[in-house]
Amino acid sequence: MITENQIEVKSILTKSNLPVADYSVNPYVGCTHGCRYCYASFMKRFTGHTEPWGSFVDVKFWPEIKHPERYAGKELFIGSVTDPYQPLEEKYGRTRELLKQMRGSGCRIGIATKSDLVLRDIDLIKTFPNARVSFSINTLDENFRKDMDNSVPIERKIEAMRKMHEAGIRTTCFISPIFPGLTDCKAIICECRDKCNLVWLENLNLRGAYKPIILGYIKENHPELYPLYADIYSKGDRRYWFTLNEELKDFCQEEGLEYIRDDDSMSRPFDAPPIIVNYFFHEEVKRNATKENSIS
Ligand code: SF4
Repeated sequence: MITENQIEVKSILTKSNLPVADYSVNPYVGCTHGCRYCYASFMKRFTGHTEPWGSFVDVKFWPEIKHPERYAGKELFIGSVTDPYQPLEEKYGRTRELLKQMRGSGCRIGIATKSDLVLRDIDLIKTFPNARVSFSINTLDENFRKDMDNSVPIERKIEAMRKMHEAGIRTTCFISPIFPGLTDCKAIICECRDKCNLVWLENLNLRGAYKPIILGYIKENHPELYPLYADIYSKGDRRYWFTLNEELKDFCQEEGLEYIRDDDSMSRPFDAPPIIVNYFFHEEVKRNATKENSIS
């Protein structure tokens, strides 16, 4: 049972401190994909929702964006704490409305989704310079996917990535979060490499309310992995990630794929093979960079 509320907001664009965008845009509060590991569930605290994450959505209505050309050259990240193409978008079209209002402004857009509903808006997305759409895929195992979220089946996501890429729009395969011992990064890269321009790799972070949920899930469903999870998430052991990093580096070399820490995908020819970007612990890397900047 999903609770829908329609809410009025003063503005839909929020200044962002994300490394990849100038503004973040979230046409909804809440997300019915209800991923069990969703870091965005902290939004409940700010919005007064007490219902379980995944069971409510606030649908945002905002005044028409005045002078959208002010955002020329700026990057908008659509979907930082919600999925802009969750099922209710079919009914309300708030993400489509946003794209219509910003069309022709000269801004750049990045969209993050777990849904193939985004294909509906190819016509609009194509009008933005250097648009990119990222699809989160962290498993090829449909049973594990179903255990973790209510988004569309993996096959549909991969097919949507293919269609988007074929339409000439840059796509990212966002392998996130990587579940130790469960996410097969190499298999996902092999499956998606001809459908995307970029692969992002992000480790599973466990903190807050969802840490016991995920650890409980592992204990019950993959008890053989529980000692590994306890080492990583209770003792702070990072050897798993160092080893995975080395393995992926070797794998990419064998496959003729570039493996880096920074993203320069927009400067690459569209048809070049994807580059694989390691974003392990990127929050810490960003925090340290900020610290260093503030010291100097
Ligand atoms: S799709 Fe994204 S915002 Fe939605 S529940 Fe999953 S992780 Fe959270």
